[in-house]
Amino acid sequence: MSSKTLLKITNLHKQFDLATETVKALIDVNFEIKEGAFAIIYGPSGSGKSTLLNTIVGLEPPTSGTVDMLGQDLYQLTPDDRARFRQLTLGMVNQTNYWVSSLNVIENVSFPLYLAGYDRQQATSLAQLRLEQVGLGNISAHNPTQLSGGQQQRVSMARALIASPRVIVADEPTGNLDSRNGELIMGLLERSVKEQGKTVILVTHNLDYLSFSTQQLEIKDGLLTDTTEQNAARRRKIGVKHG
Ligand code: ADP
Repeated sequence: MSSKTLLKITNLHKQFDLATETVKALIDVNFEIKEGAFAIIYGPSGSGKSTLLNTIVGLEPPTSGTVDMLGQDLYQLTPDDRARFRQLTLGMVNQTNYWVSSLNVIENVSFPLYLAGYDRQQATSLAQLRLEQVGLGNISAHNPTQLSGGQQQRVSMARALIASPRVIVADEPTGNLDSRNGELIMGLLERSVKEQGKTVILVTHNLDYLSFSTQQLEIKDGLLTDTTEQNAARRRKIGVKHG
């Protein structure tokens, strides 16, 4: 694995000031993720996982602290430059997919490339390649809303990979899937790390998936601990071979 730092989070705090109270969603969070890692952020509901992920991808300015990705302090960029940085660097997979329902699968997958200025033929052939990589080369003309949940998540993976991002950020990508389809998506994410050198940052509350990760970050009540070593020891003890 490359030892180059991809993401460095320093003294990160995020609070939400509501009419009646202040919610401290992230409290002095510090960690690093190296390029080529499969990092899993886990913890119970309401612990701050989504807030942290949104901050990492540039969508949620922190109250204080810094988010440095590939040497770029994200919140020193203007919102437009930050959006562009995100478009060039990150592929996103979420729990729920939002498709352009008037477009078929291949058009939905290639959509980010149109926005990036690719011509139609280039975009279509790259989208077809990405669909083949997730084992769905034969459903290009379908409407995505008519696919099963598992197929939709694989199309979502193809869309996330379309512009060859260095990082894939996945927020509960298996949240709506049965365990077989969940494992399939986790396997595709793992392949993107092992075969394509991507870095994956994944949020989940499902501890079964920790065995796919190379780095585990546990969050509880806004406080984060890097539990990588603890979990490696626990996996060895219970004889889990993965990862
Ligand atoms: P998780 O993803 O682990 O379920 P969240 O990051 O969604 O946790 O939430 C962490 C805390 O921050 C919770 O107490 C939640 O209610 C609060 N929170 C998250 N987003 C907002 C917001 N936009 N406004 C106010 N409170 C928020």
